[in-house]
Amino acid sequence: MAQTQTRMTRQRAIILEELRKSKDHPTADEVYSLVRERLPRISLGTVYRNLDFLVSTGEVAKLEVAGTTKRFDGDISWHQHVRCVHCGRIGDVMQPYPSPDVKDMHVEGFASILASRVEYDGICEECAQTMRQKAV
Ligand SMILES: [Zn+2]
Ligand SMILES: [Zn+2]
Repeated sequence: MAQTQTRMTRQRAIILEELRKSKDHPTADEVYSLVRERLPRISLGTVYRNLDFLVSTGEVAKLEVAGTTKRFDGDISWHQHVRCVHCGRIGDVMQPYPSPDVKDMHVEGFASILASRVEYDGICEECAQTMRQKAV
Protein backbone atom coordinates (compact mmCIF):
# COMPACT_ATOMS: atom_id res chain seq x y z
CA MET A 1 0.00 0.00 0.00
CA ALA A 2 2.71 2.43 1.04
CA GLN A 3 4.62 1.32 -2.05
CA THR A 4 1.70 2.20 -4.32
CA GLN A 5 1.32 5.55 -2.64
CA THR A 6 4.98 6.39 -3.24
CA ARG A 7 4.79 5.38 -6.87
CA MET A 8 1.66 7.46 -7.41
CA THR A 9 3.35 10.44 -5.88
CA ARG A 10 6.42 10.05 -8.07
CA GLN A 11 4.24 9.74 -11.20
CA ARG A 12 2.29 12.79 -10.16
CA ALA A 13 5.46 14.76 -9.53
CA ILE A 14 6.77 13.90 -13.00
CA ILE A 15 3.44 14.78 -14.64
CA LEU A 16 3.50 18.13 -12.86
CA GLU A 17 7.12 18.73 -13.82
CA GLU A 18 6.50 18.01 -17.51
CA LEU A 19 3.42 20.24 -17.51
CA ARG A 20 5.33 23.12 -15.98
CA LYS A 21 8.10 22.75 -18.56
CA SER A 22 5.67 22.62 -21.44
CA LYS A 23 4.55 26.02 -22.67
CA ASP A 24 2.00 24.82 -25.19
CA HIS A 25 -0.91 23.73 -22.99
CA PRO A 26 -0.87 20.02 -23.86
CA THR A 27 -3.91 17.75 -24.04
CA ALA A 28 -4.04 14.68 -21.77
CA ASP A 29 -2.74 12.57 -24.67
CA GLU A 30 0.18 14.92 -25.17
CA VAL A 31 0.98 14.87 -21.45
CA TYR A 32 0.89 11.08 -21.70
CA SER A 33 3.53 10.99 -24.44
CA LEU A 34 5.72 13.55 -22.62
CA VAL A 35 5.59 11.56 -19.40
CA ARG A 36 6.07 8.21 -21.12
CA GLU A 37 9.59 9.17 -22.10
CA ARG A 38 10.44 9.06 -18.41
CA LEU A 39 7.89 6.50 -17.22
CA PRO A 40 7.57 4.03 -20.10
CA ARG A 41 5.06 1.84 -18.24
CA ILE A 42 2.61 4.53 -17.19
CA SER A 43 -0.93 4.12 -18.52
CA LEU A 44 -3.13 6.78 -20.07
CA GLY A 45 -5.67 6.15 -17.30
CA THR A 46 -3.07 6.94 -14.65
CA VAL A 47 -2.19 10.16 -16.45
CA TYR A 48 -5.88 11.13 -16.57
CA ARG A 49 -6.37 10.34 -12.88
CA ASN A 50 -3.31 12.31 -11.84
CA LEU A 51 -4.26 15.26 -14.04
CA ASP A 52 -7.71 15.32 -12.42
CA PHE A 53 -6.09 15.18 -9.01
CA LEU A 54 -3.69 18.03 -9.83
CA VAL A 55 -6.60 20.11 -11.15
CA SER A 56 -8.60 19.43 -7.97
CA THR A 57 -5.72 20.62 -5.79
CA GLY A 58 -5.23 23.71 -7.94
CA GLU A 59 -1.67 22.81 -8.97
CA VAL A 60 -2.67 22.57 -12.60
CA ALA A 61 -5.27 24.52 -14.55
CA LYS A 62 -7.70 22.85 -16.92
CA LEU A 63 -8.41 24.99 -19.94
CA GLU A 64 -11.99 25.34 -21.01
CA VAL A 65 -11.62 26.64 -24.52
CA ALA A 66 -14.78 26.19 -26.54
CA GLY A 67 -14.73 23.53 -29.22
CA THR A 68 -11.34 22.02 -28.42
CA THR A 69 -10.00 19.02 -26.57
CA LYS A 70 -9.34 19.75 -22.92
CA ARG A 71 -5.88 21.12 -22.37
CA PHE A 72 -3.82 21.53 -19.27
CA ASP A 73 -1.66 24.38 -18.04
CA GLY A 74 1.16 24.02 -15.52
CA ASP A 75 1.23 27.80 -15.14
CA ILE A 76 -1.51 28.66 -12.66
CA SER A 77 -0.68 32.37 -12.34
CA TRP A 78 -3.47 34.61 -13.63
CA HIS A 79 -3.53 34.79 -17.40
CA GLN A 80 -5.89 34.18 -20.27
CA HIS A 81 -5.63 32.30 -23.52
CA VAL A 82 -5.75 32.91 -27.22
CA ARG A 83 -6.57 30.08 -29.59
CA CYS A 84 -5.31 29.88 -33.15
CA VAL A 85 -8.40 29.59 -35.33
CA HIS A 86 -6.46 27.44 -37.81
CA CYS A 87 -4.62 24.84 -35.78
CA GLY A 88 -6.03 25.22 -32.27
CA ARG A 89 -2.69 26.10 -30.67
CA ILE A 90 -3.10 27.95 -27.37
CA GLY A 91 -1.07 30.98 -26.38
CA ASP A 92 -0.90 32.93 -23.13
CA VAL A 93 -2.40 36.42 -22.85
CA MET A 94 -0.90 38.27 -19.90
CA GLN A 95 -2.71 41.61 -20.28
CA PRO A 96 -5.14 42.02 -17.39
CA TYR A 97 -8.42 42.48 -19.23
CA PRO A 98 -10.94 42.17 -17.79
CA SER A 99 -9.61 42.92 -14.36
CA PRO A 100 -8.33 39.90 -12.44
CA ASP A 101 -9.73 41.48 -9.27
CA VAL A 102 -13.16 39.98 -9.77
CA LYS A 103 -13.51 39.29 -6.06
CA ASP A 104 -14.47 42.93 -5.52
CA MET A 105 -17.18 42.79 -8.16
CA HIS A 106 -20.87 42.86 -7.33
CA VAL A 107 -23.38 41.25 -9.62
CA GLU A 108 -27.02 41.24 -8.70
CA GLY A 109 -28.23 37.80 -7.70
CA PHE A 110 -24.70 36.41 -7.24
CA ALA A 111 -23.04 35.89 -3.88
CA SER A 112 -19.55 35.94 -5.33
CA ILE A 113 -17.64 36.09 -8.58
CA LEU A 114 -14.90 33.51 -8.80
CA ALA A 115 -13.12 34.22 -12.05
CA SER A 116 -13.37 36.07 -15.31
CA ARG A 117 -12.71 34.55 -18.66
CA VAL A 118 -12.30 36.08 -22.07
CA GLU A 119 -11.69 33.97 -25.13
CA TYR A 120 -9.33 35.38 -27.68
CA ASP A 121 -9.11 34.06 -31.23
CA GLY A 122 -5.93 34.56 -33.18
CA ILE A 123 -3.61 33.21 -35.83
CA CYS A 124 -0.36 31.68 -34.62
CA GLU A 125 3.01 32.49 -36.18
CA GLU A 126 3.27 29.12 -37.86
CA CYS A 127 -0.14 29.34 -39.52
CA ALA A 128 0.52 32.95 -40.54
CA GLN A 129 3.73 31.85 -42.21
CA THR A 130 2.00 28.98 -44.01
CA MET A 131 -0.62 31.43 -45.24
CA ARG A 132 2.05 33.84 -46.46
CA GLN A 133 3.81 31.05 -48.33
CA LYS A 134 0.54 29.98 -49.97
CA ALA A 135 -0.16 33.57 -51.00
CA VAL A 136 3.09 33.86 -52.98
ZN1 LIG B 1 -2.00 27.99 -35.88
ZN1 LIG C 1 -1.66 29.32 -20.17
